Amino acid sequence: MALIKCKECGKEISDLAASCPHCGAPLKAAATSPQPNYQQQVVDQQKAQQKSMMKTMLFSSLISAGISFLTRLFYRRF
Ligand SMILES: [Zn+2]
Repeated sequence: MALIKCKECGKEISDLAASCPHCGAPLKAAATSPQPNYQQQVVDQQKAQQKSMMKTMLFSSLISAGISFLTRLFYRRF
């Protein structure tokens, strides 16, 4: 938490406040605009990681299913 100066009245207020407690000027847009972009990037990265994880899991489960199918075919012959 940090103290920033209100654009409207110039008084020090918390950068976590949604609006200035002294004059009521909204702060959220100015104070937190860089953060959502960063969080969005992190979320996008996590989503991409989850997607590749899902692909890997799907692929390995397909392979193991294929192997068990082939093994069954193999043992059925003898
Ligand atoms: Zn103010």
